[in-house]
Amino acid sequence: MAAPSNSRFPKRTTAADLFEAHPFAKVYTPDEDAKPQIPEPEDEPAPDYPRLDEVPLHNDHLNPTCVTPFIAELAAPYFADLEVAGMRLPKGLDGPYERKLLHSPVYKHFLQDLLDAHHRYKLSTVDWKNCVAVRASGRRSRQELYKQVKIEDKMVQVGDIVIIARGSSIPNTPAAPLPKNIKDHPGAHAGNLFWFAKVLSIRREDNTFHGQWFEHGSQTVLEELAHPQELFLTNLCDDIKLSAILSHCICRRLPPGERPRPQKVEDETKFFYSLMYDRKYGAFMDIDDKQSSVDEFLTCTLCKARNAEKSKPELIRIRDRRRLLEGFSYLGEDFHYADGVMISSETGLCLIGQILGLPKGRCTGDFWITVRLFGRMTKRMDLDRADGVGLYEDRRLFLSDVYLDVCSTEIVGKCYILPESPEMQLKTWVQSSPTHFYFSHFSKTLEYKNGSSPLIPHSDDHEFILCGYCMEREQTHAGELKNFIDRLSEEPLRVFDPFAGVGAFALSMCGNGSFKFTHACEIDVSAARTIKKNSPDTVVYNQCSNLLLKAATLNGPGKHLTGDLEDLESLDPSLREEGPLPPLPTPDQIDCIVSGFPCQPHSSMNMYAKSRDRQNELFLNTISWVDLMKPKYCIFENVKGFIRYRLGATQDGPHRVAEGTPLGGLKLIMRALVSMGYQARFGLLQAACYGTPQSRVRFFLIAAKSGHRLPNFPKPTHEFTPNNEKQKNSNSICFPIAGSITAIEIKSGFAPMPGNTIKDAIEDLRRFDWKNPHKVYSRQESPGDPPERRGVIKVKCNSETATCCGPSLRHGYYEHPAYTAFQAFCRSRDAADVQHITLCFDDATVERAVNISLAARADYHTLLLKNMAKLLDQYQMIDPTSANARHGFKAGMYGRLGEHEIFYTIVTNIRPTAKQSWVMNPWDHRIYSVRELARAQGFPDHFEFVTDDDQSVTKDNLNILSMHRGIGNAVPWPVGDALSKELIGALFMEKEGANLQTILDRHDRDWLEVHASARSNL
Ligand SMILES: [Zn+2]
Ligand SMILES: [Zn+2]
Repeated sequence: MAAPSNSRFPKRTTAADLFEAHPFAKVYTPDEDAKPQIPEPEDEPAPDYPRLDEVPLHNDHLNPTCVTPFIAELAAPYFADLEVAGMRLPKGLDGPYERKLLHSPVYKHFLQDLLDAHHRYKLSTVDWKNCVAVRASGRRSRQELYKQVKIEDKMVQVGDIVIIARGSSIPNTPAAPLPKNIKDHPGAHAGNLFWFAKVLSIRREDNTFHGQWFEHGSQTVLEELAHPQELFLTNLCDDIKLSAILSHCICRRLPPGERPRPQKVEDETKFFYSLMYDRKYGAFMDIDDKQSSVDEFLTCTLCKARNAEKSKPELIRIRDRRRLLEGFSYLGEDFHYADGVMISSETGLCLIGQILGLPKGRCTGDFWITVRLFGRMTKRMDLDRADGVGLYEDRRLFLSDVYLDVCSTEIVGKCYILPESPEMQLKTWVQSSPTHFYFSHFSKTLEYKNGSSPLIPHSDDHEFILCGYCMEREQTHAGELKNFIDRLSEEPLRVFDPFAGVGAFALSMCGNGSFKFTHACEIDVSAARTIKKNSPDTVVYNQCSNLLLKAATLNGPGKHLTGDLEDLESLDPSLREEGPLPPLPTPDQIDCIVSGFPCQPHSSMNMYAKSRDRQNELFLNTISWVDLMKPKYCIFENVKGFIRYRLGATQDGPHRVAEGTPLGGLKLIMRALVSMGYQARFGLLQAACYGTPQSRVRFFLIAAKSGHRLPNFPKPTHEFTPNNEKQKNSNSICFPIAGSITAIEIKSGFAPMPGNTIKDAIEDLRRFDWKNPHKVYSRQESPGDPPERRGVIKVKCNSETATCCGPSLRHGYYEHPAYTAFQAFCRSRDAADVQHITLCFDDATVERAVNISLAARADYHTLLLKNMAKLLDQYQMIDPTSANARHGFKAGMYGRLGEHEIFYTIVTNIRPTAKQSWVMNPWDHRIYSVRELARAQGFPDHFEFVTDDDQSVTKDNLNILSMHRGIGNAVPWPVGDALSKELIGALFMEKEGANLQTILDRHDRDWLEVHASARSNL
């Protein structure tokens, strides 16, 4: 790579000079960061998702983005040259009805009338004559509530939707005055000026009504992309003065997915609604018709639910005489004597205990309980066990004699702990919930390392009892869930991925048989072959998704391709003999669309952001498949940069994109889904929270067809401790109007299971070093390794003779049996070839790499400390004018993370010179092998990466870059697994007939209070 310095050219500053002169020489100490530390990738560490750019450019990449007519209609103002399902977008399409609406004279007149009513400042006459009171029940029984009242000669009735002037949404801040004349506010619409509420009851006492708020679409995460006439019901309610009513709102409830069909001009002043909006999560959900907002006495059930949540969670003593249970109710759960409890801790993982002391006396506010603690068994403590591998050691505890007084504020939730017994179905038990634990041993203290309190097998002497009632109920539930999954496996949910990559997203969901990856579309030959290899039953279309969608709409799904697309064949020449592409799936063959559509231009690392880049548009193709197939569920994944993608942006200089609609790509997807009759939620998830040994924040979106229960995002199951505030908040998405959306809050000390470190993930794979080529420094000059490393296999790494290298088969793939649950999962099935191989490099790179210190956090700075500056003669590392110099010679190149850390975000560029690369193996003189990278993403070892090499090439010439690409672009296996479990959980609850709206969690209360008080402030 770097040319050695040449005397014919003027002398360049050498690394040695820099070592003297540059401050980093003093600052840097190699051991400084040896302590475990969670890596903090600056944003995205390297150009991410070069899914298409590295692929040899097929002409097909230039195919116009194909969309369905409905998606074309929504996207028309922002995208110029979409191909509409077989036809061209009609020229001069002036946008659909809804965009013209805001400029219609009738609509403007309607707004002006409302403004006039607001500015008239005349007290309305309220007439209670002939209005009959309904006596409210309960606490408010003295109050009389009315079903109707006459205001200004117009009847207002319970169930009516009314329009009132907008107030302030910010507490203690007066609302901005409404304009007098609508002409002064071109483009203003009803959502900017007014609020909407449904009348639940009317109170004569103070001339108010109790109302349930609607949110106008423009105030939701859809913002400017909302249908101007669409309202969303919320769970919020208020007492509102009758005098605030400006007018009735003509608003119809439509079935989800149906849009109004305006016939007359008056229709422009009407509204519609079909979904609920959850402002905290920016989620759209079905309206639960089983739950009514008011009871027969007009008492508000929303208030009731909120009050139950609102009061500081207090101790409610429960004494069930029939079952002889004693305990308390907290956080919506009943805790009894001898129940398992999770307790927050300062150290990352939650503590686990058993309640053996209930609160005494009367308690208001915080109270105390006494618990007996369990210790956590680790695999390493357990190596001498006869059965060798403790498969579920992350759920395995030991009983102790340590007691702790715990304050109620420290209670995280309930958990279930069983003593291990021969008859228990351990696998079913631990897999049915992350809060299921078991134990087999006892130790007096939690300090198991201390020889004075050895671990001994548990016996009756240790006086363990459990709450039989809860345990029986939980075991029944686990059994029912298992039966449900077994039944589901007979007819699994069929998954289609139109941008499948190597298929990791869909395949990671298929773990327990509830999902089946039936159809995949993937343009890249290597990736398509990889899917076929690992999932032979999947129908793989190795073609451009745009052409396939076009074919599907032209010929109808389920038919072989005909017409001008009959030439469409697999891009993989080896598949062409198999004849034409198989028929495309019909909508009734697909239950679920998952996709991490390509999105290179959205990555924050991409300097060359183009406002009009066809690769920008592939999300439109993805949602067009949803439009065509109408699956029950969709899950989309993308880089965090996708949320920064603006719609209708213009190129502002070579590296900048300006203006446009912020978060436009996301809003357009949400708008399309809502208008197609889907419920949807989205958020940023940290993969480490689900047991991935890697810090990786990605955007996810889940949608469920109306009528099905919308799954939540999975709660974190594994410990992940954010380094700092920035990392803590790295999973929030900020909207200009709709506010900040955080789907999953990352809190340390709450996770039931320990996180997986690099060591936990890859320690069992065969150790090997690259052989030092000794091209720059001779054998005598290079310091050798410590004696204990002398047995490590050395392999030749030379890019001139091979593309990859690794230990030969006779060495075996593994160093020892699986030591952790993570390793055991990866090795659950035999693998034909573990692909424990690395990319090969030139001699200079290899020599640099093998000379990096083995200490944690060592990197290219080592070479200076070792006085091997000659090796660093590479532009970006020593040149004082380079970007590297400008950034203060940042750490990372040739970097080695410590074994107790977790991987940085795995990207597609796995080279020691990549910016912030940290790709050196923690113990060996080499970069990570393909298998180690795959482990970092949670792939099982039997998952084999196939490449597009000519079959005749030797095994030394595999296309490792293509393997890196497949791995770096994948959805981490544990995340796919966690999402699938959440989806199955939603299906299970749907079957059980549970209510749709989940109770607002306790953290929601603050927002509700602020918002409600602000809104009452009218
Ligand atoms: Zn209420
Ligand atoms: Zn209990």
